[in-house]
Amino acid sequence: MAQRVFVLGLDCLEPSLVFEQFREHLPHFRRLMHQGSWGPLRSVHPPITVPAWACAASGYDAGQLGLYGFRNRSDTSYRGLSLALAHQVTRPRLWEHLDRAGLRSLVLGVPPLFPVPRLAHGAAVGCFLTPEGENVRWCEPPQFGQELARVLGSPWMFDVAPFRTENRQELLKRIHRMTRLHFDAACHLAQSPHWDLIFLVHMGPDRLHHAFWQFFDPHHPQYPGADNPLREAVPEYYRFLDQQLGRLLKALPSDVLLLVVSDHGACPLEGGIAVNQWLMERGYLVLRRRPDQPTAWGEVEVDWSRTVAWSEGGYYARVFLNLQGREPQGVVPPGEYEAWRDRLAAEMEALPGPDGEPIPTAVFRPEELFRECRGVAPDLICYWGNLRYRSVGTVGGPLYWPGNDTGPDGANHHWDGVFVSSRPLEQGPGQVQGLQLIDLGPSLLAHFGLPVPEDAAGEAAWRWA
Ligand SMILES: [Zn+2]
Repeated sequence: MAQRVFVLGLDCLEPSLVFEQFREHLPHFRRLMHQGSWGPLRSVHPPITVPAWACAASGYDAGQLGLYGFRNRSDTSYRGLSLALAHQVTRPRLWEHLDRAGLRSLVLGVPPLFPVPRLAHGAAVGCFLTPEGENVRWCEPPQFGQELARVLGSPWMFDVAPFRTENRQELLKRIHRMTRLHFDAACHLAQSPHWDLIFLVHMGPDRLHHAFWQFFDPHHPQYPGADNPLREAVPEYYRFLDQQLGRLLKALPSDVLLLVVSDHGACPLEGGIAVNQWLMERGYLVLRRRPDQPTAWGEVEVDWSRTVAWSEGGYYARVFLNLQGREPQGVVPPGEYEAWRDRLAAEMEALPGPDGEPIPTAVFRPEELFRECRGVAPDLICYWGNLRYRSVGTVGGPLYWPGNDTGPDGANHHWDGVFVSSRPLEQGPGQVQGLQLIDLGPSLLAHFGLPVPEDAAGEAAWRWA
């Protein structure tokens, strides 16, 4: 019988803070790192919560899943994007394989997990994308959630919305409350009988970084100075998280393999680049009426007959070409498609930062990154300034934004997440290099003695000693 596994997903947990900067204040992380293996965990393309956890849990890359972000084009019309739903992860995730093998999984909040799937042997609770409302079916089977809420003495918290808010003290309290609640649940479930896998994703660190990074990092362009009362929010939260980890370590039966992982890390957000504004200024995007003030992308009227390309805001820029034969009013002839991609990629990579300084922007064609491109893939994938700048969809405003157009934001995602295993990998105890998030699902399948799908992009690369 394979050792039972608890995957504790701490969304956006930043390795440089856990492994270096705050390390001496995190005794439980240190203990776990000392007894097991740890290292940076390379995220996927794109390093965003959706699809990153779905890639981790399935072993398939974002192109194979056809999930390029929280929201995706559902067809080649101009109708815009729709929110990722659980059943759009068309390849089985870890718990589905286990379920078929008669093993029992408890899956909590691994995005996207709404609508909440039904497992024959296990139970599931929806992710942070679960809508609010009395009649929302937020867990399967419903008794599992009712029992959980009864034990916790509190309704489940999916998120701390709104997290892009100026009311930061209140937000900080909500993040701490959600973290405590999720660890209460983790401790309770860890001691419950009859499970083989617990996979819980907690959004606390992600919300914390977006709201508070600028207050503790003197290198952040919006650092308000050392006397700001919020300067302790990030270090204090990491200490709090370490205490919660200590509680879980106490509650976990000794035979359980614990993995603490994050789907990506975080870095200071230097600003935003208004990608549609840039396309417009270059003449590649034409609006019927140019707005004279910042206007959301969804509210403008595009002259598609004269538009070559458009994009979407977000952690990275997804650029779509208006291709003849694909989009309803496509203008780019198929024979010029590659030339247009080359030209746009070169021009985006050459765009300097707000002070004219070069920034290391990287632009990819999806077929360079993914084994296949299902659904409607972006034609170009652009990481402005290697993720130090985000993509702003708003038009009619400046090209360079001090931050995000959707509310206050101090951090962007970064390439490496955290990996800590309570049991050493075969490379030996201590620090391990070269680990990849996409190998999580395949590695755990192999751990449970189940076959790894042959066409998966990930491999059973993590082998425990
Ligand atoms: Zn995330």
